[in-house]
Amino acid sequence: MKTIFSGIQPSGTITLGNYIGAMKQFVELQHDYNCHFCIVDQHAITTPQDRLALRKNIRSLAALYVAVGIDPAKSTLFIQSEVPAHTEAGWMLQCVAYIGELERMTQFKDKSAGKEAVSAGLLTYPPLMAADILLYNTDLVPVGEDQKQHLELTRDLAERFNKKYNDIFTIPEVRIPKVGARVMSLQDPTKKMSKSDPNQKAFITLLDDAKTIEKKIKSAVTDSEGIVRYDKENKPGISNLLSIYSILANKSIEDIEAMYEGKGYGDFKADTAKVVAEALAPIQERYYELVDSSELDDILDQGADKANATANKMLRKMRNAMGIGRKR
Ligand code: ATP
Ligand code: MG
Repeated sequence: MKTIFSGIQPSGTITLGNYIGAMKQFVELQHDYNCHFCIVDQHAITTPQDRLALRKNIRSLAALYVAVGIDPAKSTLFIQSEVPAHTEAGWMLQCVAYIGELERMTQFKDKSAGKEAVSAGLLTYPPLMAADILLYNTDLVPVGEDQKQHLELTRDLAERFNKKYNDIFTIPEVRIPKVGARVMSLQDPTKKMSKSDPNQKAFITLLDDAKTIEKKIKSAVTDSEGIVRYDKENKPGISNLLSIYSILANKSIEDIEAMYEGKGYGDFKADTAKVVAEALAPIQERYYELVDSSELDDILDQGADKANATANKMLRKMRNAMGIGRKR
């Protein structure tokens, strides 16, 4: 069976972007692959986090993974910092990576733009992400489009390591969904939706209630044409809402365009809000059952045990390949 790895940062509450771009794929793929889904808390601390909020977000993300349909009996669900091999392997891969290639990462440029103090971790995060993936002999990495460049770097680092030291890493492939790979911000539809956006109105979280969803979608930035039609270039706001509607209601964009012919954005937005709220209601119900339960701790304990066992094997190979420590 082929292996999958993917991670999400507990840097806020999961958004519709994370759900549509990443989590929804995970649920579909878990039946056919040996899956590892990770709460990448070490990545989250590359930008400033409030410690109590971070703790809460870690637990919340774990509960959401299960609430959207990840079956912990099938997939390994775990917290990155509970598997120390990640940071050690990340360090080794930092020593294989070049500063120049890290500085070229667009996420680094975006996240450091205009900031006075930028952590060194923000620059060296991609080799840690490479470690996350490579430790599990990963064949496939399902992610949103924004992670494509980091995946290319992961492949480069794996190939470089294999050539320079020993051929131990599987070279992973990226898997980006055909639709919904890049859900856009509701306030600036030329930017991707991000859970760490300081403007709460820019995203919908999986835990937003129906009223909040309605308010956020009503205030979503669109255009003045007044026609519900898909045109990513000239109508990014309406096109974004159409994509969200289409994916969550399981209707084609053409069908939705036809449904709203002659109607204004008001009706379309109100219905989009309903579609979103209806899709999220069962997820939220399961979430609230789980989030404070000991069941969730058991799931994470078991996940960490399984992940540690797999990751430590590869870590030993990496140490031997690089010649650090004593031979084991
Ligand atoms: P942050 O702003 O803290 O970076 P984020 O919303 O970008 O948060 P990540 O944890 O970085 O979320 O990414 C988790 C997964 O969600 C990745 O697979 C990423 O590609 C995907 N993803 C993130 N944003 C979007 C989006 N707007 N549309 C589709 N997929 C997305
Ligand atoms: Mg991100």
